[in-house]
Amino acid sequence: MSDLNFNCTQCGKCCHDLRLPLTRKEAIGWLERGGSVEVLCEAVPWVTEPAAMDAVAMHKRRRSFSTSSGELPIRVIAVLTANFAGACPHLRSDMRCGIYDSRPHVCRIYPAEVNPFISLSPGHKKCPPEAWTSSNPFMRAGKVVDAQTQLHITLLQHEDQLDVSFKAEACEELAIRSAGLSNEGFVVHRPSCATLLSVLQRDATVGDGKPPASNWELVTNQATTLEALRQVGAKPLYTTMFAGGALQYLGFHPDSPPNVLPS
Ligand code: SF4
Ligand code: SF4
Repeated sequence: MSDLNFNCTQCGKCCHDLRLPLTRKEAIGWLERGGSVEVLCEAVPWVTEPAAMDAVAMHKRRRSFSTSSGELPIRVIAVLTANFAGACPHLRSDMRCGIYDSRPHVCRIYPAEVNPFISLSPGHKKCPPEAWTSSNPFMRAGKVVDAQTQLHITLLQHEDQLDVSFKAEACEELAIRSAGLSNEGFVVHRPSCATLLSVLQRDATVGDGKPPASNWELVTNQATTLEALRQVGAKPLYTTMFAGGALQYLGFHPDSPPNVLPS
C-alpha cells in the first residue's frame, strides 16, 4: 500500500502480547524498571564478503557481527527483546503508556515497519479501522512521511548499528553461542536479569579486544538444513538435541526431523 493516512486512537491494542525489540540503552532501562529481557539470535552463513551486496544483505550485514560455526563463516544478529503475554507491564488502566517519555523507539514507530523490506499492511496491524481514516498523512508512495515516525526509524537503525560490536562482546561474556538460521528461526536466550543488566551497563568502550567466539552452534528443526550444515563443516544441532532450559527455539516452519539424529 503506497499512500496511507493514520492517527493513533490510543486504543492500547498494540501494547499486548509482544516481543519488543530494544536498543542496549532501552534494555538497560527496561531491566532497571524490573522487567525481563531476552536475547534472540539468528545467523547468516557468510562464506565470502561479496564485492557487491543487495540492499537486504547490506541491512543484515550492518546489524550483525562476524564469527563462525565450525568451519563455516557466519554473521550473527543478536536482538534484545522484552517479551510479555497480555498487557505490557507499563500499560496503564487508561491504556496510556506509563513510561511515555522514555518508551522504546519501536513503540513510537508502530504501526510503521522497522524493517525497511517489509511493507506496511493495515490488515496486519492491531489498529482499529478508524485510525486509518484520519486526514494525517503517514505514508506517501510507500515511504513514511510522518516526521516523528521517520526520525525514530532512523534513530533505531543508527543505534542498532552502534550496538553491534558491543553485542558481540556481550554474547561472549554471557556464553551465548547458539543461533537459528536467518529465515528459519531464532534461538531465544534468557540470561538472568541481574547478569544481563551488569553486562549491558558495562562501558561499551571497555572490551578485552578478543574476537567473538568461533564455536557457535546453528540450531534447526529442518532435516535438510541439518544435513547441509554438516556437509559444509558447521556445528548444527537439531532442536531436540539442544540444551533447553533457559533456551528456546522459535521456528518459522513445522518440524521436519531427520530419520536418525547425528550423535
Ligand atoms: S512501553 Fe508503553 S508504548 Fe511500549 S508497549 Fe509498553 S505500554 Fe505500550
Ligand atoms: S493499536 Fe494503533 S491505534 Fe491503537 S494504540 Fe496502538 S498505534 Fe494507536
